[in-house]
Amino acid sequence: MLLNDKLMNFLDESHSNFHAVNKMASMLDQKGYVRLKNNEKWDLSDKQQYYVVVNNSSIFAFDLNGYEPLQGYKIVASHTDAPTFKVKPNAVQIVNNTILINSEAYGGLIDYTWLDRPLKLAGRVIVDVEGKLETRLFDSKKALGIIPSLAIHMNRAVNNETKFNRHTQMRPLIGQAESFDFKAYLANELDVEASSIIDYELVFKPLENSTYVCVNDEFIASNHIDNLQSAYVSFEAFLNSQNNKGVNVYASFDNEEIGSMTKQGANATILKDVLIRINHAFNLSEEEHLMSLAKSFIVSADNAHANHPNYMSANDENHIVNLNGGVVVKYSANQKYTTDALSAALMRKLSEYSGAKIQTYVNRADAPGGSTLGSISSTQLSIMSVDIGLPQLAMHSSMELAGSEDSNHMFELLKAFYEVELIISEDSIQIGR
Ligand code: ZN
Repeated sequence: MLLNDKLMNFLDESHSNFHAVNKMASMLDQKGYVRLKNNEKWDLSDKQQYYVVVNNSSIFAFDLNGYEPLQGYKIVASHTDAPTFKVKPNAVQIVNNTILINSEAYGGLIDYTWLDRPLKLAGRVIVDVEGKLETRLFDSKKALGIIPSLAIHMNRAVNNETKFNRHTQMRPLIGQAESFDFKAYLANELDVEASSIIDYELVFKPLENSTYVCVNDEFIASNHIDNLQSAYVSFEAFLNSQNNKGVNVYASFDNEEIGSMTKQGANATILKDVLIRINHAFNLSEEEHLMSLAKSFIVSADNAHANHPNYMSANDENHIVNLNGGVVVKYSANQKYTTDALSAALMRKLSEYSGAKIQTYVNRADAPGGSTLGSISSTQLSIMSVDIGLPQLAMHSSMELAGSEDSNHMFELLKAFYEVELIISEDSIQIGR
């Protein structure tokens, strides 16, 4: 199966970030990875492969086939979450016999892109099973809601003004009734007693599946391309690389879109803890652990802004980024991206080795631009790092656009990263092959 087809299946099955992580966990199970628990002792052996899930929404996998004491870690990190509307605890509002769902924005979404699209509802529900609070994944499996526009006849300014009040104007409609018991609905769908539904984290997502678009299928349109494209493609590179040199690590964090400051986000200690526990399992000292960190490298993979043909001046004119132009290496003088000359140079050499195309992104000097998890992760782990991503348009729209050739470039680049031997010192990297 082509990488793009696998990616598109993954995008379609990832009804929420919980589903994305669950899918990756089952793929790791199939590959024979051993699932670890954070609340149990880790007895690790070399030549084995492991993973751990945090909060159902972040996942960390590592491959010890190339393990030797004091080698560094080769890490690729991404994020699982995306901007969306999240249902509030007291969800139901009835207006004029219509059931509205009271929700709030999660992350920096583009409001108008959520209008007039059939929406499914998905996430996790906490169920009381004889006194134990258990997590169940939920997805509505159909279009449950929609946020209709107001007709232009009633808002003649709509094409000049695109501001919406999220509290009063962006509530999804989910039915007609004089009253509605939301928990009873969830219970019925999950086939449990209504009284056992204790709480939930549910988000809306466009029902529409991902699709190729344009004359020669040049592009892929989908919800959640940022950042499940980078998360999935780096996952495939991790799973499909021959690991002889060093410890390969895959990390995908939740909550990048809201600043990463959560227990399962890049600002938590989880990735650092995973690395410490690996070295503890092999009886390395604190000093030796720090030595292996100093030989390590982290690639932060999060999607990047391609040049929009209708808005060419939105990007820096000396750093044109094109869909299907390959992996983007992101620079920022203020280190919103972690890339520096040495870490970028490694990407350029790996591009040569692998044949993967790369291109370069820098914000315009008069635009603040975004940031990503790389710089936040660096506050927890002082490891050499680079920020890369796949080029896309319509970032944070409910329907984003990516190039259909770019996933292969990232796959090849990161496969090369996972397969080479990196001999890292303070101001040099030697690449063994
Ligand atoms: Zn992102």
